[in-house]
Amino acid sequence: MQHPVYCERCADEIGSQGDLVTVLKLPSVIAAYHVRCYGLEAKGLNAFGTPLNSVSLIWLMVVFGLLCLFLFVANSFNPAFLIIACIIPLLRLGSWLVVERHISHSSAT
Ligand SMILES: [Zn+2]
Repeated sequence: MQHPVYCERCADEIGSQGDLVTVLKLPSVIAAYHVRCYGLEAKGLNAFGTPLNSVSLIWLMVVFGLLCLFLFVANSFNPAFLIIACIIPLLRLGSWLVVERHISHSSAT
């Protein structure tokens, strides 16, 4: 079921996934922005301000996952590294569950 998603910066409704940027931000955990508002807000964001619905996060997920897999094998199969490897995919899933599934895929601008 879809419901309106509002931008954290300008409070206007975000109409399409093409105009959506989700970031990790406390206290709401996952914040939604228009693409232009993210650009304006990015100066004030910390390292956690990497967009969750971006190609760069997918690359980060792959590299971080491989690193954790290496550490898992190198440290006598310590399951803690598998748990750590799940953090980024869980954030990506959270971004989809909380925000992205409520917005249409059409990229009307
Ligand atoms: Zn906005």
